[in-house]
Amino acid sequence: MIIQPKTRGFICTTAHPEGCAKQIEKQIKYVQSQKKISGPANVLVIGASTGYGLASRIAAAFGAGANTIGVFFDRPAEGSRTASAGWYNSAAFEEQANQLGLKSFSIVGDAFSNGIKEKTIELIKNEFKNVDLVIYSVASPRRTHPVTGETFSSVIKPIGTAYSNKTMNFHTGEVSDTTIEPATEEEVRQTIAVMGGEDWSMWIDELSKAGVLADGATTVAYSYIGPEVTHAIYREGTIGKAKNDLEQTAIKLNEQLGAKGGRAFVSVNKALVTQSSSAIPVVPLYISALYKVMKEKGIHENCIEQIYRLFSDRLYGEGPATADGSTLIRIDDWEMREDVQKEVMDRWNKLETANVSELADLEGYREDFFNLFGFQTEGVDYDAESDPAVELPNSY
Ligand code: NAD
Repeated sequence: MIIQPKTRGFICTTAHPEGCAKQIEKQIKYVQSQKKISGPANVLVIGASTGYGLASRIAAAFGAGANTIGVFFDRPAEGSRTASAGWYNSAAFEEQANQLGLKSFSIVGDAFSNGIKEKTIELIKNEFKNVDLVIYSVASPRRTHPVTGETFSSVIKPIGTAYSNKTMNFHTGEVSDTTIEPATEEEVRQTIAVMGGEDWSMWIDELSKAGVLADGATTVAYSYIGPEVTHAIYREGTIGKAKNDLEQTAIKLNEQLGAKGGRAFVSVNKALVTQSSSAIPVVPLYISALYKVMKEKGIHENCIEQIYRLFSDRLYGEGPATADGSTLIRIDDWEMREDVQKEVMDRWNKLETANVSELADLEGYREDFFNLFGFQTEGVDYDAESDPAVELPNSY
C-alpha cells in the first residue's frame, strides 16, 4: 500500500517502514563515524524503540560493539494499519546488528509488568550471562502496578496555581496563549507512580536478585530540567515531581550498586522532538526557538549526538561522569549555556504567529516530527508501494 502520514494533533497514526529504516541507518552511520566508545559489553535498554532509548541502544551496539536487549511496547501491522514507528525502528536495528554479528534481542511488552522482567532475566541468563549497563528510558502515559494492580495515569500540569504561556500548533504554525489548570494531589501521586523511579528500582532489584547484573554495572535513567519559562509546566509541575523521585532513586541505586563497584545516574538531557515531548504544551514552541539558536551557533544535537556524547564523554570517558561526584549528569549543558538561553528568551518574548518561522525553527521541528514516523526522509519514495507487514527478528 501507499503509506502517507495521518496526523491527529501531536500523534501520527501511521509509520513508514523504509523511512524508519533509513532513519536508523542515519543514526548508525553517525555513531560509526565517531571515535569508538570504550565499553559497555552487554546492555539492556528499557524503552528502546524510539527517542533517547533507541539512540542509547544504537550508541551501545554500533559505537561500543555491545550486545543488546531492547524492551519496548510497540505493535506490529494489522491489515491496512501500519506498525508503530518503534516496531519498524527495532526491526531495522535488529537487521543491522545481525549483519555485524552482534547479539541482539527485542522483548515486546509492558516493562512495568513482572512477566516482562522475568522474560528479560531469562534471556540475559541464556544469552549474555549478565549485563553491565542498564538504560531506563520508558516514557508512558499509564502504568499498572505489578503488585497492587492499580492503574495510574500521568498528567502534565502545573502544581498549586494555573499556568499561562504561549504555545504553538506546529502543524499550522499558529502561536496562541494557553492556560493549564493545576493538578490535584491525586494526579501528582499518579504521575509520580508512572514516571518516577519505582519501576526503575524494581528492575535493578530483580536483575540483582537474579544475579544477572555484572559487578561494576552502570544504570542510567533520563530526565529534563529546562529553562525558567517551562518550569511551571515541567520542572515544578507534576512531571517534575516524578523526575525528583527518579533522581532520588538514582542516589539510592548508586549506594546499592556501589557495594560491588557499580554506579547509577540520572542524565539530564536536552529538549528534543520525540513522541513524548510533542505532547507537552508550551514545550514545542520552546524547542523550535532552541533549535534555531543552537543551529545558528553550530551546537545543535539530536538524540543520537546527545547520547553518543553521554557515552563517550561522561559514562565511558577518561574523566569521572560528573564533575561534582553527584549522580546527576548534565548533558543538557549546551542547551543551558547562558548565551543560548539569553538568545532563546529574547526570541521567546517576541514570538507570535507572524514571526514564528523567522524567530524559531518551525520547519526543523516539523521535519523532526515527521522523521519520527519515517516520513520526510531523503531517499524514500513515498509514492511507491510499501508492505506494512515487517517481521521483527529476534523478538520475544
Ligand atoms: P519516547 O516516547 O520516544 O520513547 C519512549 C519509549 O518507552 C519507547 O521505546 C516506548 O516503546 C517505551 N515504552 C512506553 N511504555 C512502555 C511500557 N509500558 N513498556 C515498555 N516500553 C514502554 O520518549 P523519549 O522522549 O525518548 O523519553 C525517554 C526518556 O527521556 C523519558 O524519561 C523522558 O522524560 C526523557 N527525556 C526526554 C527529553 C525530550 O525532550 N524528549 C528530554 C530529556 C529527557
